[in-house]
Amino acid sequence: VYDYSKPADLHKDKLLDGLLATGFDEDSCLSRYQSFLYRKTAPHKPSPYLLSKLRNYEDLHRRCGPHTQSYNKTVEQLKSGHSTGSTDCQYVVWISYSGLGNRILTLASAFLYALLTNRVLLVDRGKDMEDLFCEPFPEKSWFLPLDFPITDQFNDFNHESPQCHGNMLKKNIINTSTESLPSYLYLHLVHDYQDHDKLFFCDGDQGILGKVPWLIMKTDNYFVPSLFLIPSFEHELSKLFPEKETVFHLLGRYLFHPSNHVWGLITRYYQAYLAKADERIGIQIRIFDTGTGPFQYVIDQILACTRKEKLLPEVDTQESVVTPADNPKLKAVLMTSLNSGYYENFRNMYWEHPTVTGDVVGVYQPSHEEFQQTEKKLHNRKAWAEMYLLSLTDMLVTSSWSTFGYVAQGLGGLKPWILMKPENQTAPDPPCRRAMSMEPCFHAPPFYDCKAKKGIDTGALVPHVRHCEDMSWGLKVV
Ligand code: GDP
Repeated sequence: VYDYSKPADLHKDKLLDGLLATGFDEDSCLSRYQSFLYRKTAPHKPSPYLLSKLRNYEDLHRRCGPHTQSYNKTVEQLKSGHSTGSTDCQYVVWISYSGLGNRILTLASAFLYALLTNRVLLVDRGKDMEDLFCEPFPEKSWFLPLDFPITDQFNDFNHESPQCHGNMLKKNIINTSTESLPSYLYLHLVHDYQDHDKLFFCDGDQGILGKVPWLIMKTDNYFVPSLFLIPSFEHELSKLFPEKETVFHLLGRYLFHPSNHVWGLITRYYQAYLAKADERIGIQIRIFDTGTGPFQYVIDQILACTRKEKLLPEVDTQESVVTPADNPKLKAVLMTSLNSGYYENFRNMYWEHPTVTGDVVGVYQPSHEEFQQTEKKLHNRKAWAEMYLLSLTDMLVTSSWSTFGYVAQGLGGLKPWILMKPENQTAPDPPCRRAMSMEPCFHAPPFYDCKAKKGIDTGALVPHVRHCEDMSWGLKVV
């Protein structure tokens, strides 16, 4: 916990440079105004334009949120089936779908889309969203009311649903000149989406969508990079985020406040194991290979990475006596993995042998859940707590392809060292690469030129949208 002895800075820091609104009940969500105690001062400030946009959004949400007059009216339209001209308020409904890391990234994407299109974001609570997160907007809830008419269809929506935007385009039921549009459209932005679904990322189709009061979105991807390639959003995005790589970092800190029980998991762990260290190093291990680990080639890869990048001191396997150091440091390694084998290996190594620098290394792993159990409450609480704890480290090593790691790096404002994906059970050389930016990677971007109506490399159009370090076909903002 950082010392906050200067009261003048306290208020400013507490609101994260104005990112957070005032006026919340502090006890109902301790993390909102306590998070700054666990983080170093953020070097990435929100732009004044982003701050005004957020305050305006909060007003819109107050006016259009659940059970307001405007909400009730627009729900009536939804029931009637047809969009009858303009409505006061338009909505984007985010469907709870996929693993927790994915959900955090897609929710931030949906919120940015709502900001860009003046829509109100409403969140399907799924099994556990209420249990994991505090309300981010003042006064009116972000959760979709339980009596929303079509919630029972959310699970079944797919790219062949009759209400699916892409499917309707494909069957030419709607096009850019359609007058009478439905009152809602389902947007299928899941990794298996088809060419017509991808037209979401074209200006022409944004024009159609603009006339539909309800957009119901299902996605497992951080689609922000492709929003940067839509000409009508370009100018607004550059004003909102003069420092482009801060999109998830700032929106994430604005939106995602751990609920009180998750905050308890975070703060107790931090205080018990991490607070006293001179340096905190996070290592996130997510293995997509089949078979149960630990795998020796992964252990070798992590060691090769931390050695090459000088993230951790080496051990002296010959000497068992301590080399006295002038100013020995205490380093805490926070490891996260579904498996405990990697942690045991590292912990034993630093217990059985002295380091060549004389520094002392403690290795900690909060849980080993063995496999993904998205349906379980405590499992997801721990997953969220661990992503957050990783974001509190000073240096971070992450695994390729993992949204769990992206959330940690983004919230923490950290450019991680990414462990490159092993091929045929062998660690690649170099074992890890420093990320170009702290932004998450969009794993399934479209490769389509909306104007020329042909394929194009969307990672080569502008300097700030590039292919990802860990996935050659992915896109990220840098
Ligand atoms: P991704 O699959 O790595 O992109 O990340 P997701 O968070 O979307 O899905 C992985 C899920 O597996 C997490 O949400 C957790 O439920 C679980 N999981 C994976 N790695 C860990 C870990 O290190 N710790 C914990 N507690 N859970 C994990």
